[in-house]
Amino acid sequence: MSEEKKQQLIEPFYTETEESVLSKLGSNREGLSDAEAAKRLAEYGENQLDEGKKKTLFSKFLDQFKDLMIIILLVAAVVSGIMGDHVEAIMIVVVVFLMAIFGVVQEAKAEQAIDALKDMSTPNANVLRNGNAKVIKSTEIVPGDIVLLEAGDVIPADIRLLEANSLKIEEAALTGESVPVEKNIEVLSDADTGIGDRLNMGYMNSNVTYGRGIGVVTGTGMNTEVGKIASMLAQADETNTPLKENLNQLGKWLTYAILAICVIMFVVGMMGGNKSWVDMLLTSVSLAVAAIPEGLPAIVTIVLALGTQIMAKRNALVRKLPAVETLGSTDIICSDKTGTLTVNQMTVEQLFTNNQVVAADQAMPADNMTLKVMNYCNDTKFSAEGTLIGDPTETALVKYGLNKGFDVREFVANEPRVAEVPFDSDRKLMSTIHQLADGRYLVATKGAPDELLKRTVSYDVNGEIKPMDEAERSLILTTNTTLAKQALRVLAMAYKFVDEVPTELESDVVENNLIFAGLVGMIDPERKEAAEAVRVAKEAGIRPIMITGDHRDTAEAIAARLGIITEGQHEAVITGAELNELSDEAFAKVVPNYSVYARVSPEHKVRIVKAWQAEGKVVAMTGDGVNDAPALKTADIGIGMGITGTEVSKGASDMVLADDNFSTIVVAVEEGRKVFSNIQKTIQYLLAANLGEVLTLFIATLLKWDTLLPVHLLWINVVTDTFPAIALGLEPAEKDVMKQKPRGRNSNFFSGGVLSSIIYQGILEAGITLGVYWSALKWPAHTALDAAQKAAAAADGLSMEQAIYNLQHGDALTMAYATLALIQLFHAFNVKSVHGSLFKVGAFRNKTFNYAVILSFVLLAATIVIPGFNDLFQVTHLDTYQWVIVLCASISIIPIVEIVKFFQRKALNK
Ligand code: ATP
Repeated sequence: MSEEKKQQLIEPFYTETEESVLSKLGSNREGLSDAEAAKRLAEYGENQLDEGKKKTLFSKFLDQFKDLMIIILLVAAVVSGIMGDHVEAIMIVVVVFLMAIFGVVQEAKAEQAIDALKDMSTPNANVLRNGNAKVIKSTEIVPGDIVLLEAGDVIPADIRLLEANSLKIEEAALTGESVPVEKNIEVLSDADTGIGDRLNMGYMNSNVTYGRGIGVVTGTGMNTEVGKIASMLAQADETNTPLKENLNQLGKWLTYAILAICVIMFVVGMMGGNKSWVDMLLTSVSLAVAAIPEGLPAIVTIVLALGTQIMAKRNALVRKLPAVETLGSTDIICSDKTGTLTVNQMTVEQLFTNNQVVAADQAMPADNMTLKVMNYCNDTKFSAEGTLIGDPTETALVKYGLNKGFDVREFVANEPRVAEVPFDSDRKLMSTIHQLADGRYLVATKGAPDELLKRTVSYDVNGEIKPMDEAERSLILTTNTTLAKQALRVLAMAYKFVDEVPTELESDVVENNLIFAGLVGMIDPERKEAAEAVRVAKEAGIRPIMITGDHRDTAEAIAARLGIITEGQHEAVITGAELNELSDEAFAKVVPNYSVYARVSPEHKVRIVKAWQAEGKVVAMTGDGVNDAPALKTADIGIGMGITGTEVSKGASDMVLADDNFSTIVVAVEEGRKVFSNIQKTIQYLLAANLGEVLTLFIATLLKWDTLLPVHLLWINVVTDTFPAIALGLEPAEKDVMKQKPRGRNSNFFSGGVLSSIIYQGILEAGITLGVYWSALKWPAHTALDAAQKAAAAADGLSMEQAIYNLQHGDALTMAYATLALIQLFHAFNVKSVHGSLFKVGAFRNKTFNYAVILSFVLLAATIVIPGFNDLFQVTHLDTYQWVIVLCASISIIPIVEIVKFFQRKALNK
């Protein structure tokens, strides 16, 4: 594929003028046409870094045989074949092949799911096509595309900048320099300029941290600077979850234990002397192969991945697999207010202008400076159809203007914006500078009232400018509080006239000596499902915490409406300024006191996460802006916003909310809890089964019984066990899943009674199986005796005793095999809840599970009842009486476990 791609231009574009760059790339300021872009996409290929070669199916198949135990097993099977036991040898090889095929299928499923995750997290980019702005997948970018950049974007390809407005780009991935670089569009003279100094270029995967810009794509995919070092940027393996690592650890530990048991068994078996060494070796190795849960990590991946698919349907897009399991243990959900807890649809409700509060429906003259500033200092765009595009805070202001007959487009056409100091959530201010007809310039500034007020020196009442005094300041502040207490977001407007545009577009230079114009109060209603989600979270022992850049009173009013705090619970609210007064140690001590953080900046979020983590809590944190990335990375679960989030924030998160909705987080936590408990079920089921088998064989060997043949063990483990194990991963959530407390940072899959259950249930399985074997020997079926007589009569040289012995053993062995397999199928129902009664959990709710159990049952029965098959498996036909015994014995595990669970519930007071 890569050989067929057309070669892209490799030039020092930074040394060339804009015209030359555009003409070489066959592009212009309007962007490519869609047809041209499609053509180039076909020619140059997708804009993505090549991944390492994928393994072929065959090599994956071969990989399955790399396990030492499997090799020993195959060798032993061959030796046994040579020594005469062809049937057994062939069957072992067949089952091992089946096992390899299952292994490949499972791995392929897991891989598919992980690819789907990657697909979902492909970032988007803003480009100009045919002169219109358009959002496309970054992978569809082609050389010559015109890319629009703003703070929070990830640069999608290598670009030569054509415009840079206060544009700052962080290029740490390429240059190691984490301080953002201020870019410009000056042509460089030296082709040898190092990457870090090419100020008119932007490189793939760098982050725009500030300002805006436009660039033309000079290289895509592997033809970018990152592409050149792609092999060096070995991506972390995101499929390796802590759970899987724990499992691998456990796997190792179990392997040693099981190997030790196998060796003991081999030695004891040899000393017993009733079996050849090849038989004994085969039995021990089969046991090892069967009992070592190699398949578990793959099953866990599949269950996690299936969990992500269910979450995706419910709007929670998991980007990193470990997030699924961490989500389930979330103790604290820190959520932004705007857009996550509220709908992010602002409407202007009240204004304070000319020292008077006016309702939004009252008339407003076009020369009102509050009206003018809120429209001028505004990045809202109009689409071709006239709809408003932009930040809801800003579109609300433009909408208000339009309602009052103030069409900002007409005004700005005459008084164009010539410079700006972009908004950032640390400063909480934004300014634009407009050229006026009289040669002067208007600076229009809007932002958080407390911040803006600090920078004003006078105020405007009906066009009269008066010096700011204490009386006015306190009038503004009390009005601000009154509005904020009604849950309104309040923005202040101010302006000034200057004779020239400052050369340095810095806040300190531009945003001072301002004239206060007025306040605007906007309502952003809570999401209707948010209060319920807060209630569910609290019930589940999870603490919801609200974080906002908004004013303390606005924050408190909304938090109370949502149920995050109670009405009037002032002491649960803290502001960024108060937080600044606390050292990290002091804050860590008081962090549990606060549920609402107001007027905070993104860097406070990191402190909040760390303080809670120091308390041993698992913290989820939402974020949308470029500055939220560190907090998103520090949190145990970083949650990005699918609609309003910047690409940088999405890239830093573990999960993205497709609908930006707080309640989706709670849904995802529920799903995470379910997935974790389903994995526990699978583990409990498989390990109890393995323990049952190991014990059965071990005790049988000690007692010199022939209970199970290697092929039986392999069949049970490889075939009949597998389907219910996977299907358990699909169990619906238990009813009380959101009524339990979070499981805690240090819990693992053995916690909550799972380990003890595995042990006693494994012993139980072995006990019942051995019991059936023993009773079959002691009380043989009448039919067996009849058959023995016939067999003895028919076979020359076979004494009656010998015939009876053979048949009894054959029957007993068959019954033990059937019991051990069936007992596991019945036990699969028990593990649906660790302590809850099966009859309350709903035994048949999971259809896939029901089919899996039926399939396993058929596959087991086939080996016993289908003539021919039973010879391969060296089992006899069981008569009805024997089947009844087998069924009763194996089903008995359900009432026994129910009784134990009953007492456990009593003890746990559940
Ligand atoms: P939240 O923190 O609740 O999610 P948010 O994301 O809108 O809200 P920021 O964007 O950090 O918060 O805004 C913080 C403060 O900055 C706001 O409360 C407001 O006072 C001010 N502000 C927000 N948007 C603008 C803007 N476009 N121009 C000027 N000031 C703004």
